[in-house]
Amino acid sequence: MDNSKLLAHCGVYCGVCPYLIAYKNKDDRLKQKLAKSIGIKPEKIICEGCNSDLTIFFCRVCKIKECVQNKSIQSCANCEEFPCDLIERFPYKEFIKKVKWDVNYQKKFGKEQWISKTIELNTCPTCQTLQHWRARICKSCGTKLEERYL
Ligand code: SF4
Ligand code: SF4
Ligand SMILES: [Zn+2]
Repeated sequence: MDNSKLLAHCGVYCGVCPYLIAYKNKDDRLKQKLAKSIGIKPEKIICEGCNSDLTIFFCRVCKIKECVQNKSIQSCANCEEFPCDLIERFPYKEFIKKVKWDVNYQKKFGKEQWISKTIELNTCPTCQTLQHWRARICKSCGTKLEERYL
């Protein structure tokens, strides 16, 4: 996997994003579920990562991304203002919790270790397939997955 495309401006790892996984795995059921939750057609669930040329619409017009680009830094993990109001007021509480975990972990242990830990946390312990960070049940074998980002 080309990690450079998967390092989101906000500081999360796109490799475990449900949108990217639904698209990459051609998972029609997951595409339908995600599409319904944001009111778009399932065929519009297309994303190859925040730093790729193919991103879903809401990540193309993301205010956090714009702020990071204006500061000419790699991500919010390189910003002393983190977590700023843009992060704290993001309209999705689970994301706020997740991005704080990601940024704090990579600040403490470095990027390589953070990516390894993220992949380890989201790999099903039974069948070893990579699941998205919100998955509570492994799509491949049905194993119940513990909360990873408390
Ligand atoms: S939807 Fe956003 S967070 Fe998810 S993979 Fe695409 S750019 Fe990354
Ligand atoms: S001000 Fe906020 S959104 Fe902008 S780079 Fe810093 S933490 Fe990220
Ligand atoms: Zn499994």
